[in-house]
Amino acid sequence: MMFKTHLMFGFLLGLFGIQYLHPSNQVLFIIIAMFCSALPDIDHPDSKIGKNVKIIAFLFEHRGFFHSIWALLLVFFLFSLTLGKVYVFAALIGYISHLLADAMTKEGIKVFHPFSKYAIRGFIRTGTLGELIVFLVVSVFSVYKLVNL
Ligand SMILES: [Zn+2]
Repeated sequence: MMFKTHLMFGFLLGLFGIQYLHPSNQVLFIIIAMFCSALPDIDHPDSKIGKNVKIIAFLFEHRGFFHSIWALLLVFFLFSLTLGKVYVFAALIGYISHLLADAMTKEGIKVFHPFSKYAIRGFIRTGTLGELIVFLVVSVFSVYKLVNL
């Protein structure tokens, strides 16, 4: 999925997080969720985050480690060192939103990479009309959720 679709997914799931977790700083919560919704593509040299740290794309396969459950555990660990519990959830929510969105694409995600080739795949092709429809549906739902928070 593309950057904007990931941000919108992170935004929507972040709103659900705010509803159920009641963080004291809702703006910070959403910023962390949206940042982490873009973070897994750090393994792609042309992504918004990856182009600033090309060494990671050089060392790691795209949709490999950073799109696995292990990276999610790493995010949990690293954010736990610096943030309070509720904001660690924001990071996890954002990161999971990215994995869920990519799991809807034909390319899919290899959840246990590199230990297993098992992949979760969908039917949407990145950057096509299918993704645009997903983006629009998530956007409309996000606005609805924001107004009714
Ligand atoms: Zn991705």
